[in-house]
Amino acid sequence: MPTMFSLALLAGGYLVSTPLLLLLIGLFFAIMLTIAHHRLRVEEDPTVVALIEALPGANCGGCGLPGCPQFAEAIAEGRAQPSDCVAASEETIKAVAEILGVEATAGVPRRAVIHCGAKFRERLRRPDYIGVATCTEMNMVAGVQGCTYGCLGLGDCARSCPFEAITMVAGLPVVNYRTCTGCGQCIEACPRGIITVEEMIDDPLLVIACSSQDAGKQVRANCSVGCIACGVCAKLDPETCEVPANLCTVKYSAERYGRTGDHEPAVEKCPTSCLLLVGAGIEDPHELVERKTREKVARAAARAAQQQRIAASSASNDAPKPGAAVDADAPSGKEDTQ
Ligand code: SF4
Ligand code: SF4
Repeated sequence: MPTMFSLALLAGGYLVSTPLLLLLIGLFFAIMLTIAHHRLRVEEDPTVVALIEALPGANCGGCGLPGCPQFAEAIAEGRAQPSDCVAASEETIKAVAEILGVEATAGVPRRAVIHCGAKFRERLRRPDYIGVATCTEMNMVAGVQGCTYGCLGLGDCARSCPFEAITMVAGLPVVNYRTCTGCGQCIEACPRGIITVEEMIDDPLLVIACSSQDAGKQVRANCSVGCIACGVCAKLDPETCEVPANLCTVKYSAERYGRTGDHEPAVEKCPTSCLLLVGAGIEDPHELVERKTREKVARAAARAAQQQRIAASSASNDAPKPGAAVDADAPSGKEDTQ
């Protein structure tokens, strides 16, 4: 029997070949799909389409919705404001407001803050970790570093950021405040819970770069830049800083926060440099720690040099003056060595 007729079926009394039967089936489903498409089609709202085009398309979830299309629907229905889009620039907000026929109002920008300031070298009691190189996995292992609150340094936050706003520097995330949108993805990614998103009521913004709830002595044993709750900040900047327990808290109230200059004495005098200023104009907020360390080393060297000078001058004062009377009974160095 010829193969092309081997699977022939009987339809309506006619013998139909396999290719012809497949063609008919294909045609049938094509017609059905076309009818279904026309009958079941959901008409797209042209405003929503225009809004989707105007939005940044980052799908970062910073607005609290799964992505930009859902956010576009929410603003078209009045359930959200254009300024709720954290990734939107001023131009985007204007464009969105124009589509909606409303006035553009920009909200206070929100940005990520990392509440740990310890680079690898400042974290004490940190044995070698052998395991999957993510903070989430590392966090499940006990005793990976002395401080159980601080950053683990394997960069889950940096990898999660859709805007590439976090760079890992010596094991510590550094936020680029020009590109961070405050979407909060990094908060979700950090297993230590040391990232918050704060309103930038000032730029630079004062932040506490520590999360440890341990007492001061324990903090010192674990970290050289942790908050020891000494209260210096609360004395110098009482409107903004308070130390309710073992950790300083910065009060971000627009009425009480004050101007940048008001916080500088507290930043300078914090003995462990865990109060920092962060913002778009500050390249590396941890540079302060480096500078203070350099100054400390220079002060110690100056003190040592001064002590040496004092010791040398008192030694020369003790030496007998030329022509002075010599005590005949005093033992001479020479006699001592004999
Ligand atoms: S740093 Fe955090 S808040 Fe800022 S854009 Fe990246 S993920 Fe979002
Ligand atoms: S901030 Fe959190 S996620 Fe980022 S490196 Fe540190 S521990 Fe990991």
